[in-house]
Amino acid sequence: MADPRIRAPGPASKTDDTGAVKTRSIRGMNDLLPEVSATWRHVETIVRDVIESYGYHEIRLPILEYTEVFARAIGEVTDIVEKEMYTFRDRNDESLTMRPEATAGMVRAGITNGLFHNQRQKLWTLGPMFRYEKPQKGRYRQFHQFDVEAMGSQGPDIDAELIVMCARLWERLGLGRLTLQINTLGSPETRARYRDELVAYFSAVKNQLDEDSIRRLGKNPLRILDSKNPEMQALIADAPVMTDYLDEASAAHFDGLQSLLNAAGVPFEVNPRLVRGLDYYNLTVFEWITDALGSQGAVCAGGRYDGLVEKLGGRSTPAIGWAMGVERLIGLYEACGGSPGTTAADVYIVAAGDAAFAAGMSVAEQIRDADAGIRVELNLGGGSFKSQLKRADKSGAEFAVILGEDEVARGEAGLKPLRSGGEQQRVSLDKLTESLAAMLANKH
Ligand code: ATP
Ligand code: MG
Repeated sequence: MADPRIRAPGPASKTDDTGAVKTRSIRGMNDLLPEVSATWRHVETIVRDVIESYGYHEIRLPILEYTEVFARAIGEVTDIVEKEMYTFRDRNDESLTMRPEATAGMVRAGITNGLFHNQRQKLWTLGPMFRYEKPQKGRYRQFHQFDVEAMGSQGPDIDAELIVMCARLWERLGLGRLTLQINTLGSPETRARYRDELVAYFSAVKNQLDEDSIRRLGKNPLRILDSKNPEMQALIADAPVMTDYLDEASAAHFDGLQSLLNAAGVPFEVNPRLVRGLDYYNLTVFEWITDALGSQGAVCAGGRYDGLVEKLGGRSTPAIGWAMGVERLIGLYEACGGSPGTTAADVYIVAAGDAAFAAGMSVAEQIRDADAGIRVELNLGGGSFKSQLKRADKSGAEFAVILGEDEVARGEAGLKPLRSGGEQQRVSLDKLTESLAAMLANKH
């Protein structure tokens, strides 16, 4: 595992040398330890704020859906449905699947709750997704996505805005330049014509196709373009391109998107081989790619899926969305020198002796009562002044509040800066919160 702070699972043996049973963690499913989760929270807050600044609303969805929701939405002949889903039968013998992506569940929820009847919806969600893939840097079996979806709009204005939102995010997070690739998959009619061309092309070179591609040739030839097999890339590079088969309306949509991106000053590349790994897309598809993360370079990907709501049993509703891999986003944020988040306390209360501890407890509650956003940690388990001060230092707090029997008797506390080497001061207990708030405001 690349990041040493993300705990790698132990060896696969079930017992240790003494024969005791060992608990194991599941390969590709990570524990995010506190220092990592602090950075995640920091980044998540920024992403959430940017998404909501475009008028999107949060929706929270179940992790489990009936398997058919994903099979129908994503497509039977896709890597996800064929090889990557965590599917099992529940006690009622129903086939359930742990969501491998969020769009299908989002659409299912919209239909269930009648969200698409003559309404536009702008929704976002965040959470874990599950795919049985080969774990490696940037590719896990439980990973997280921010997912943003707009239903009820034809575009290309909304298509452009969703992409511009990503560009703003990269800027807010200081991620430098990511490459934006766009393509169009046209209308279903375009796609049918293009499909015939692809079948003709790949059939003529069938003896050079790998096993997956031969299988896909009959069922879903567009998927061949999405192959990750290096030996297939030369053939794919020479295949016919969708953009040569576009009908007028699809071409106009694609032109519209490109003009809006140009007007917004968002550079892009047209990649005619970008087809995406899920079947539900039409018209606009796009990916944001970085070269700073090695081979797992796609940070965010999305597209239009005008047929999906109807396919899952709702009224025909145009829609478009994107999904962003949080692990890859964090990886890039760290690679770009983004500042880590912190959950350290602001203030650590040192209190030696029973009376001082009782006072310390009430001082801690007083500071929290003030609701000034000050994080307080009270020394628990006693100890000498010296050992408590050591813990205060280790806690990462900015200040130690020191309470001895004498100070408490005088209604005072010692206030010691822990990071700046400044002098310890005496502060009256009823002015303590105020003083702390002022001094912390200077720091932040
Ligand atoms: P890839 O080509 O890397 O397999 P994908 O096309 O399968 O990606 P999507 O289904 O479009 O990915 O998901 C959107 C984003 O979610 C990806 O761009 C990536 O950032 C992230 N992602 C997808 N699968 C994983 C995974 N197994 N581990 C971590 N992040 C992932
Ligand atoms: Mg994939």
